[in-house]
Amino acid sequence: MSKMLTIRCAKCKSKTFRYLKIGKGRVLHCWKGRIIEDYSIHEGMEIKCQCGNLIGIDEEKWIKMKQNAFIH
Ligand SMILES: [Zn+2]
Repeated sequence: MSKMLTIRCAKCKSKTFRYLKIGKGRVLHCWKGRIIEDYSIHEGMEIKCQCGNLIGIDEEKWIKMKQNAFIH
């Protein structure tokens, strides 16, 4: 069971990722291979929205998502 999610910044509501979510439950991390479109800014390990809001941390295989920083 999978579905396409549009993940948006909780502050400015812009798109951050289009992400293929597999299974149920919260989005705790985003597997990089399942990010279909990436609108975010990568600054070293930090993944930010265009507005500067910190969305997550790059942990190589996936992006660990900062809860409450995004909506979908
Ligand atoms: Zn934003």
